[in-house]
Amino acid sequence: MKILIIEDEEGLREALIRSLNGEGYLADGAADGEEGYSMICTGLYDLVLLDIMLPVFDGMEVLRRIRSQGIDVPVIMLTARSTVEDKVSGMDLGADDYLTKPFAMPELLARIRMVSRRGSGGTVDNRLKTGDLILDPQTYTLFCTGSDRSVRLGAKEYQLMEYFMRNASQILSREQITQRVWGYESDAEYNNVDVYVSFLRKKIKFVQSGSKISSVRGVGYELEVSAT
Ligand code: CA
Repeated sequence: MKILIIEDEEGLREALIRSLNGEGYLADGAADGEEGYSMICTGLYDLVLLDIMLPVFDGMEVLRRIRSQGIDVPVIMLTARSTVEDKVSGMDLGADDYLTKPFAMPELLARIRMVSRRGSGGTVDNRLKTGDLILDPQTYTLFCTGSDRSVRLGAKEYQLMEYFMRNASQILSREQITQRVWGYESDAEYNNVDVYVSFLRKKIKFVQSGSKISSVRGVGYELEVSAT
């Protein structure tokens, strides 16, 4: 799962990125409302942690803009303010949850799990289920319903598999996949994608799934899911 942290306090932003990466999430940061807003618009993020007091324009404005465009990414507001009015107006604008600074990391992780579960609808416990494929984020293990085989995925394999499963039956370009899994500033080549897709194909076959990752010539890949 890829998380965007929009927070202007650099120390807090960097600490959150480190902690979330340590928990197996992919985390990026933005330092002001404008940068954060344009990063959300890329569609690369599954969840946004949004500070209210931000330079350029504030968190409420970010939320107002994305919701008015129909972008329904789950948003958890982070703020030093704790007044009831702020909480109410954030919720009115379409925030999914609200956390008052300072907060403890386990509290934030619990909120992230809760909000992401609510958003996807496709998870059982914390597991992501698409067609006959089941992915466990705690153990990075891929399962297939009706098969007793399972296989552990590496960190990048896991992030790539999760991206495919959350966007099943959609064509994902090599560029989208590279940005999503390796990040904007990575010098990963497009052929990394091909290499990792070949690893995942072997693992999908190993767990005896009927789902497959198809190549779309000149564009990228698509996960075709099988129900059984
Ligand atoms: Ca702030």
